[in-house]
Amino acid sequence: MFIILMGPPGAGKGTQAEKLTKEFALIHVSTGDIFRNAVKEGTEMGKKAKEYMDKGELVPDEIVLGIVKERLSKPDCKAGVLLDGFPRTIEQAEALDEVLEDLKMKIDAVINIDVSEEELIARLTGRRVCRNCGATYHIKFNPPKVRNICDHCSGELYQRSDDTIDTVKERLNIYNKQTLPMVDYYERKGMYKSADGSREIDQVFADIAAYLQNKEDEI
Ligand SMILES: [Zn+2]
Repeated sequence: MFIILMGPPGAGKGTQAEKLTKEFALIHVSTGDIFRNAVKEGTEMGKKAKEYMDKGELVPDEIVLGIVKERLSKPDCKAGVLLDGFPRTIEQAEALDEVLEDLKMKIDAVINIDVSEEELIARLTGRRVCRNCGATYHIKFNPPKVRNICDHCSGELYQRSDDTIDTVKERLNIYNKQTLPMVDYYERKGMYKSADGSREIDQVFADIAAYLQNKEDEI
């Protein structure tokens, strides 16, 4: 089975990715991870990506796609893949289709974890991180025992610059503008599933898992 997992920042994509890869025995192909690995291992595409990164430039789509292709070509991916963090734009989605055709793979489902903007803002701006040990908290959903003090090491908690209200709004704007057109694209292909991500983690998971189970029975 080949699944693409989408969702705005703060939707809980990481948690669901972990549960889904375990349940369906999929290889978790997260673009952030494979990118770092390709650069570290110095693969052909990794080297090219590094040239741009060293210059402080954005890595072009064709190289990002090349890194995804390198990873998907490895034999372990035959068992099934959950692709996370890619594609991010409709151009990338189209290019991915070509790569998959080359690799004789096909997408079975595209899952989008849907959460209202208001809720995402509350989730993201409430995050706090310990300066000392990196433990994460949420002022509303998972507060420390003492305000702004880490339960584990008594370190000071702070808000990452990514999580301030202006940055969060900007991140969500970019997501909406770039990624939402992909919804149309995959909907037209009949492989799109939206999951209401405002529910409890286990409920969201059960919903997605039931959908994928049906898909798997069809295959
Ligand atoms: Zn701490």
